[in-house]
Amino acid sequence: MSRLENLTVLGAGVLGGQIAWHSAFNGKTVVVYDIAQDAIERCRTAHDQYADIYLSELGASQVDISAARNRLRFTTDLAEAVAHADLVIEAVPEIPEVKSAVYQEMAGLLSPDILIATNSSTFLPSDFASDTGRPEQFCALHFGNGIWAMNFAELMAHPGTSRATLTQVGEFAVEIGMVPIPVLKEQNGYIVNTWFVPLVNAAQTLVTNGIATPEDVDRTFMIGGRAVGPLGMLDMVGMKTAYDVLVFWGRESSDAQMSANADYIKEHFLDKGLLGVRTGKGYYEYPDPAYARPGFLDAPHISAVADIVSLMLPE
Ligand code: NAD
Repeated sequence: MSRLENLTVLGAGVLGGQIAWHSAFNGKTVVVYDIAQDAIERCRTAHDQYADIYLSELGASQVDISAARNRLRFTTDLAEAVAHADLVIEAVPEIPEVKSAVYQEMAGLLSPDILIATNSSTFLPSDFASDTGRPEQFCALHFGNGIWAMNFAELMAHPGTSRATLTQVGEFAVEIGMVPIPVLKEQNGYIVNTWFVPLVNAAQTLVTNGIATPEDVDRTFMIGGRAVGPLGMLDMVGMKTAYDVLVFWGRESSDAQMSANADYIKEHFLDKGLLGVRTGKGYYEYPDPAYARPGFLDAPHISAVADIVSLMLPE
């Protein structure tokens, strides 16, 4: 058993909320920290939804759910949040300045033996190791969205991470039911985001450039057996995180199309308060998104061809 029984999660958003809930469900004592009280309220609401999922899909009992709730605390006070931590998992926005500032602020508050892991989607542990003030006790542990079903966790070191840290954090991952995936060298995006980000970016390009409707982009991916398409996946990721990733990497790699995709997401979603599944609307409306309804992937009636042609050749 690892010695990491007390977890603090920084950031009560989409992923922080899931990591916290899943860890508490698997017996860890968890403190969730966020700078925003309303984010904590949204996290509590998300936990109610996760409770339903764990009851209906994972065979959890009401006793299990109450025990998970009893192991969770929430705070907007960083010092209080980390006071009893063994492990801190950082899940604040995918903006390097924000992450660096949080690590620097936390560095003076942590007792010496506390370990830190970043859940960043696309940055390297090397980018923040010195900010933590304890580089040998820092690595990445990257979770997938829908943690209860996507139960892998990518483990990635930077050159200064100690073997003991990787061992403890890897054991923690196993204890909460994850399949640990070792990333053998530092890589922006680990394994999964090395292919996932280009996939959703390519899908977004088709929409940004008016090549296809969002529904048809997803149909081409889903026909043949996949449960959700890349634009449905963007709704799950959340538009804010998708925007942060595209805006940073568009600028960093001088990729004008990626930057245009970020602008599209800002104009069509962020500026309208549409953040995806979390707010009930993104490309699709939730619950009960159109792509999950019967008929979405069926061959239409022959009379529908006229409408299809009108989309291609507007009158
Ligand atoms: P999110 O926008 O849903 O949540 C981020 C939370 O951090 C918000 O609640 C915000 O109020 C809070 N926050 C902002 N500044 C803060 C600060 N200084 N201190 C504490 N909290 C602060 O973001 P998310 O999608 O949960 O992403 C969080 C991290 O997890 C990012 O690094 C992202 O790349 C990564 N991640 C996201 C996904 C995904 O599918 N969304 C998957 C894997 C990893």
